[in-house]
Amino acid sequence: MAPELNVCRTIDDLQDRLAFFREKTSGLTGLVPTMGFFHEGHLSLMRDARTQCDLVVVSIFVNPTQFGESDDLDAYPSDTERDVELARAQNVDLIFAPTAAEMYPPGYETTVNPGSIAEGLCGLSRPGHFQGVATVVAKLFNIVEPDAAWFGQKDAQQVSVIKRMVRDLNFKVDIKVCPIVRENDGLALSSRNVYMSPEERQQASILYQALKKAQDKVEDGEKNASRLKRMMRKTIASNYRVELEYAKIVDPETMQTVQQINGKALAAVAAKVGPARLIDNVILIESKEHSCEE
Ligand code: AMP
Repeated sequence: MAPELNVCRTIDDLQDRLAFFREKTSGLTGLVPTMGFFHEGHLSLMRDARTQCDLVVVSIFVNPTQFGESDDLDAYPSDTERDVELARAQNVDLIFAPTAAEMYPPGYETTVNPGSIAEGLCGLSRPGHFQGVATVVAKLFNIVEPDAAWFGQKDAQQVSVIKRMVRDLNFKVDIKVCPIVRENDGLALSSRNVYMSPEERQQASILYQALKKAQDKVEDGEKNASRLKRMMRKTIASNYRVELEYAKIVDPETMQTVQQINGKALAAVAAKVGPARLIDNVILIESKEHSCEE
C-alpha cells in the first residue's frame, strides 16, 4: 500500500508539514505545479520528480488570475478526490490545494510582469495570462521553497516565461522540463480535451499532424519559416471543426518569430476545436546534412 498522502488547504498547514518532513530528511524538495484533473502528462512530471527528490509536493490550484473574462475558469474540470488517488499512486508526499482566498487574500495587489516573452503566441489572445502564471508560480516557489520544479514542454511559452522569471528574479529553483505526453493519434493530453465531442476529438489530431509535417520537412532540409507556416495552416484548414488561432515558428527561449531555421526553433500552434482551446508544439532542429542547400 502507498504511504499516507497529506492534502493541505492552507499555507500554514503546508509549511508545518514541510518543516516536519525536512526535519527527517535533508534531501531535495521537488514541486509540481498543476491545475488538477490529472492525466498521464501530469503523472509523468510527478514520476520524474519522484526519481530525483526526497520530498515531492504537488500543487492543485485553478488560478483565477491567469484566466481572462472569456476563458473557461467556471467550466474548468475538477475531481480532487480522483487526483489525490492518482498522486498517491505516484508516491507524492504532499498535495497543496489552496482556495483562491488563501492565495489572494483581500488587499492582494502585487504581480510579476514577465515582459516581451509573454506578448506573442498565447499572450496575444490571452492578455494578462502569463502575468497570472508568473505571479502564482512565484508565490508557490516562495511558499514551498523547492530545490527544483517540474513543468511540461506542452506549455512551451509558460516554460520560457518561468525560466526567464527564475533568472531575472534570482529564484534558487532548478526548472525541469518533461516531454509532451500524447494520445496514440498524436493529440497532446490536456485536461481540456474532455470538452470535445467525439467528432471534434477525432479532428483535433490534425494539430500534431501539421507539426509533425513541419518537423519532417525541416529534417529534409527546409529552413524557410514562412513556407513551413503556410504548410501547417493549410494542413490544419483541412479539418473544418478546427479553428486555427496561430501557427508560428519562434525562438524557443525568447518566443520571438524567426524567419529561418538556424539551429533550434519551436513550431507552435493554438486552435479552438469546439469549446476546447488547444495548444501544441514541436522542436525543429536544423538539418546539418542539407546545410549547403538554398
Ligand atoms: P495544467 O494542470 O494544465 O496547468 O498542467 C500542469 C503541468 O502539466 C504543466 O507544467 C503542463 O505543461 C504539464 N502538462 C500538461 N499537459 C501535458 C502533457 N500532455 N505532457 C506533458 N506535460 C503536460
